[in-house]
Amino acid sequence: CAAVLAIDGPGGAGKGTVSRLIAERLGWHLLDSGALYRLTAQAALKHGIALDDEPAVARLAGSLDVAFLAEDGAARVVLEGEDVSAAIRTEAMGECASRVAALAAVRQALLARQRDFQKPPGLVADGRDMGTVVFPGAALKIFLTASAEERARRRLLQLQEAGVDASLPSLLKEIQARDARDMQRAVAPLKPADDAIELDTTELSIPDVVDHIQRLLED
Ligand code: C5P
Repeated sequence: CAAVLAIDGPGGAGKGTVSRLIAERLGWHLLDSGALYRLTAQAALKHGIALDDEPAVARLAGSLDVAFLAEDGAARVVLEGEDVSAAIRTEAMGECASRVAALAAVRQALLARQRDFQKPPGLVADGRDMGTVVFPGAALKIFLTASAEERARRRLLQLQEAGVDASLPSLLKEIQARDARDMQRAVAPLKPADDAIELDTTELSIPDVVDHIQRLLED
């Protein structure tokens, strides 16, 4: 089986950027598992399915018609023929994703789809439960963290760069609420795997984090 590098942690710790850069550097595949939960929530809203209707949302998750495309260097996500790359990235959709992610049947329905990403030469898997549930045999498990204040600040910069209006206090509140839901849920709560290496990125730059993980992988 191809090697897996599992990168877990709370939202805004830098997992997405770090995972993408490492996958590019190694020429490995990339799994953005959060996108699958965001897409499930987006599809439920589109089809008028309540986010807490567990059997219906799980059916949807199991049959998501989605394509991850790379065009002109930009990643595009297409759901049922519609480009939802921007729509699934909003804070509101993150919140909806975190609600459907608390449903056991939904997590079960997405399990096989996530494991299908494990192909040679290797996979960088970005999420909350990559090391604990989806790829327990991962070659290396990293748990990336950063203070909630720093994560809110980074998110604000990202939004400002995208020309989106946002305020630091409201982003901080959203991040704290999402952390609480992800950590307190009954199924696959956000926590480091027993054999994960925890890395606090509050004071680190993205290139430093990437170099550090690559060194760990080579050891
Ligand atoms: O990482 P991202 O912000 O895209 O994830 C959105 C939500 O999806 C998270 O807040 C979390 O509730 C859920 N999620 C999860 N397990 C994963 C990835 C994401 O529960 N492996």
